[in-house]
Amino acid sequence: MNELLQRGSEHFASHFGGTPDGLWSAPGRVNLIGEHTDYNDGFAFPIAIDKRTTVAARARADRLLRVASSSFPGVVEVCLDDLSPDALTGWAAYPLGVAWAMSQAAGRAGGSAAAGSPMAGVDLALTSDVPAGAGLSSSAAVECAVALALDDLWGLGLDRQELARLGQLAENKVVGAPTGIMDQSASLLGEPDHGILLDCQSLQTQSVPLGFAHARAGLLVIDTRTSHSHADGGYASRRRSCEDGARSMGVGSLRALGPDDLPRAAALLDDQTFRRVRHIVTENQRVLDTVAALRTSGPAVIGTFLNESHVSMRDDFEISTPELDLAVSSAQEAGAVGARMTGGGFGGAAIALVRDDDAGRVAEEIAVSFARAGYTAPHIFPVTASEGARRER
Ligand code: ADP
Ligand code: MG
Repeated sequence: MNELLQRGSEHFASHFGGTPDGLWSAPGRVNLIGEHTDYNDGFAFPIAIDKRTTVAARARADRLLRVASSSFPGVVEVCLDDLSPDALTGWAAYPLGVAWAMSQAAGRAGGSAAAGSPMAGVDLALTSDVPAGAGLSSSAAVECAVALALDDLWGLGLDRQELARLGQLAENKVVGAPTGIMDQSASLLGEPDHGILLDCQSLQTQSVPLGFAHARAGLLVIDTRTSHSHADGGYASRRRSCEDGARSMGVGSLRALGPDDLPRAAALLDDQTFRRVRHIVTENQRVLDTVAALRTSGPAVIGTFLNESHVSMRDDFEISTPELDLAVSSAQEAGAVGARMTGGGFGGAAIALVRDDDAGRVAEEIAVSFARAGYTAPHIFPVTASEGARRER
């Protein structure tokens, strides 16, 4: 991590000169279980990972916001008074979208902006080792690091749940991605060797011990390095099916349904809508079962829930791909405790829960299966549940 901080300071100096007022960082995440449940008011169980985005930041004497990223060329600048969702495009929509959302919140709270003592402009330099677009939420890592930095520099004193909501607001309103609050919650609330049980209806969170270290087990991410052009359309159509299913069943969201409601759903809904509904209902139950099993017995017994989650996404929700299916089946055959695709689907990554002693062999056998199938070599690496966003110095 020290290397990332060092790079952050140097990157700041190369764009803006001198030293930053501080460095803040926030992690990416993987979702252990609970997929497509967030927009159905359901449960998800993500973990913050040991890959982070750092922002080096310094307040300015004027009202200019300037942002640089080591992942993209150039510096993007905008005056605080000109911030609006429509004015921001490209990668800078993530960090500056957060600045917009936070300036709105400060105004509503009667903070410094509304009181007529304007918030200062800020120079922001981003560096990251979260791979972008791999399903590890590099976007939330950027948003949460920037949110924490601006909260400190602007003296807003917002709590982490509020910062998560503002990160989501930036992504929804400025970037234009209709995502839930899972990614930001994980990035802000993560703890070492813990997952975050997130109730997307009440927005309450609980930090749950994973016990991976004690069980000498851990997670492998298998990034298939594939993404499919119909991912956005597929996401939108799954959301629509869930809304249709809820309406036909006479409930506000699928969260209101439990396993006992499935026979009635089967009788009422067309086959496809029923299968979409069944995924959400059973996935919510699997999240709760996973958390209960971790609390009573530890990680050795959660493999079955991960495996069943994958089958449900493959057959009922139909968001898996041949590459993701192969990653999961070859991990299982090589002795993983459990495996599933993770993230929105239609490409991206799978995860495998593996005993430490088996990790090398499982990774090797997945790579061999991909080569044999003629697929692009996957990027396979371990991740550890880590601390959420923090001020580094
Ligand atoms: P994911 O969050 O799964 O990695 P997204 O498509 O949600 O994928 O977000 C990726 C986008 O977030 C990138 O295309 C870029 O616009 C922005 N982003 C991520 N990391 C950085 C970074 N270090 N600097 C600038 N922008 C970033
Ligand atoms: Mg994202």
